[in-house]
Order: sequence, then structure tokens, then C-alpha cells
Amino acid sequence: MPGGVNSPVRSFSNVDCNPPFISHAAGSHIFDIDGNEYIDYVGSWGPMIVGHAHPRVVKALQEVAAKGTSYGAPTGLESKLAKLVMKIYPSIEVIRMVNSGTEATMSALRLARGFTKREKIVKFVGCYHGHSDGLLVSAGSGLATFGVPSSPGVTQGTAKDTIAIPYNDTAAVEKVFAECGEEIAAVIVEPIAGNMGLVLPVEGFLQTLRDITIKYGALLIFDEVMCGFRCALGGAQELYNIKPDLTCLGKIIGGGLPCAAYGGREDIMRQISPDGKVYQAGTLSGNPLAMTAGIETLSILIEDADFTNKITAKTSRLVEGLKSKAAMFNVNIQAQQAGSMFGFFFSDKPVNNYDDAAAADQMKFKTYFTAMLEQGIYLAPSQFETSFMSSAHSDKDIDKTITAAENAFKLCAD
Ligand SMILES: *Cc1c(COP(=O)(O)O)cnc(C)c1O
Repeated sequence: MPGGVNSPVRSFSNVDCNPPFISHAAGSHIFDIDGNEYIDYVGSWGPMIVGHAHPRVVKALQEVAAKGTSYGAPTGLESKLAKLVMKIYPSIEVIRMVNSGTEATMSALRLARGFTKREKIVKFVGCYHGHSDGLLVSAGSGLATFGVPSSPGVTQGTAKDTIAIPYNDTAAVEKVFAECGEEIAAVIVEPIAGNMGLVLPVEGFLQTLRDITIKYGALLIFDEVMCGFRCALGGAQELYNIKPDLTCLGKIIGGGLPCAAYGGREDIMRQISPDGKVYQAGTLSGNPLAMTAGIETLSILIEDADFTNKITAKTSRLVEGLKSKAAMFNVNIQAQQAGSMFGFFFSDKPVNNYDDAAAADQMKFKTYFTAMLEQGIYLAPSQFETSFMSSAHSDKDIDKTITAAENAFKLCAD
């Protein structure tokens, strides 16, 4: 396997060590094959909001697996998950299930192009929308530039239709639309950016995107694959009260099994095959196992009206603890939180976009990461990743994490 892994960031190459090989996980804890136990803030990169191997999810999966794992035919489970999601996301009038966030965003873009009959899309530098060709493009910083591929194998032809501009840069958005607004099919954005580390939208940024896309007849696509169900139950669109035309969901929606979805305005979504001519399909899409894990996970979130408040408060306590321990040793960090997502940069300036994030101190991060891992705290091996709290994390877990952070920040002091 390239790098010994099936997805690059798992390799720990960024922090010059070998990753633990995992044997099992339960609740907030993850265990490796060498007998080490860790408090897990990766949560399979987002999905495990109710903790690992939640008994209710496991039981439902066992029952459904015994009835066959895939039929390639419609089931009531698909309708059930669809209804749950559409109740939480009123902007989703019609929904299609897929198997990964990559598929959701790729399909949403194809749909946006098919619907508007336009070819260009606007994305933001540092936002990750999966690895489809047209989205593996960034354009560096500064003024709006037409995309150059950021991976070999993405053709110039594909890249030229992607315009990448800095996150939170309202002026750059206005400039792009003034230049070629009539050619733009869609703006796709992580409304809370979690793939350059956690970066929140500045006041007015998302509203500008909504207003300008309406003005020019382009679609607004919220990629809530990570922040959906997490920053708030109804995602960033609920938190900031902005209605996108299309929404992409992933991670939590599948409760740890491969599932994602895209959906939105009915007139747009009816262009998808077989109602319309925009093609998109999947052998395992909507399979009973993924639907079941999603249904049970979302049900747990919904049944406790206080779920989001409680997990958010828990996250705040940890973030405040980290900030105070960093301050003890005069280590400058920029901490952010959105519901149960959190993270910080080793930086003395606020981080509002990719360039700010890239300027953060990498050596300090490596020191911090290694010290935390040695003390049994499992974090993503990069400052450009978001950390995740689960409902299974205990007060004791959080206290232990804050104490470990004290020891780690001490090593980061100048
Ligand atoms: C994880 C992620 C994706 C890609 O999802 P996969 O299931 O890994 O393909 C897309 N968009 C965002 C915002 C993500 O965080």
C-alpha cells in the first residue's frame, strides 16, 4: 500500500513516526495492537459522534446484517434515513444517497453544471471537498486566479474550470463574479472550514456568497460533510441561517459506515437520473448496513434534545483548558470551536484563511503531537485537521487530556 495506508494522512509521515495499528475501539477510547490505549479525538475523522461501537448501533447492525448486506433494490431503510435527514435539514427537499463525501460533492457539481448549463465553479483555497479531479485545485493566495491542478493527473482542461480564491475574502468573490459571473455554475464552500485546521467564516462571508450567487444565477453548495450534525444539529446552515441550493453531507450521516448524501432544491434535484438527465448511480448506494448505522446515530442525536448543547459544553471545557495551559507557558495558540469540532494553531495571529494556517509553527505542533501521543492522547497528525469530541468522552477523559496538554505545552515553550 502506498505509504502503508489506504488514505494518506493516516501514515503519520507529517510527524515522522509510525502510526499505531488499531485493534479495536470502544466509546471514547481506541486501542492498538501493541496494547496501548488512547483517548481518541480523531473519531475516524468525524463520523463517530456517539463514540465507537455504540451498543445501539452495533446491535442494529448485527440484526440487519443477518438479513443480507445489499440488495441493489429499494428498501424502507433508505426512506427512513432520508426522512430523518430532511427533517433536520429543511433546505433538502429531495435527497440522493451515495457512498462517500467525494461522491456527494462530485455529483453536486455535475448537477449544478447540468442545471445551470454553465461550466465554471468557484472554490476556496484550503477547503477540501474530496478528491474528484475538478476539486483538487487550488490557486495559491492573493487575487483570483484560474486554477492550476494541485495533483499530477488532473488535466489543465479540468483545472481551468475551477476558480480558487482565499477563504473569507469577500472582495475576491465579488471580483470573480464581476469578471465572469455569467459563466459560474456554482460556488462550493465548507461553511465552517475544517480541512485547513478549523477556520470559521467571518461575519458576512456566507451571506455574501448567498447574495451574489442569487444575483448571478449560480448555485450555492454547502459542503457540510464534516460540519453537518456537528457545529449544530442542522449544520452551518442552521447556525448562520443561510439556505444553500444544494447541501453535501457525509461522515456522521453514515455513523461510521460508508454513506454520504447530496440534496437540496426540488427543481434542481429532479434533474438527477432517472427523473432528469444528469447521470449518477451506485451499486452499494443506500445499502442496508450504512442506512442502519446512519439511522441509529442520527436517532441518538435527535432523541436527546440536549445532545448538541452537552457535547458543545464539553468541547468548550476542553478548549478553555487547552488555552489556559498554553498561556501558562506563554505559548501562543489560536483556538477555535464550532459545536463538537475544535482545534488550534500555533500562531500569534488570528487564522482566517489557508495562508494564515500555513504560517503556523509546524515544529511546535510536532512536539505537541508527539508528547500527547506518548501520554495516550490520539490526535490527528497535522495542525490542518480538526479534532472531534464524542458524546462518549467523559469528564475524566477531558481532565486527563488537559493535564497531558500541560506537559506537552511545556515542551513547546520558547
Ligand atoms: C471528508 C470530507 C469530504 C470527503 O469525504 P470522503 O467520504 O472522505 O470522500 C468532503 N468534504 C468535506 C468538507 C470533508 O470533510
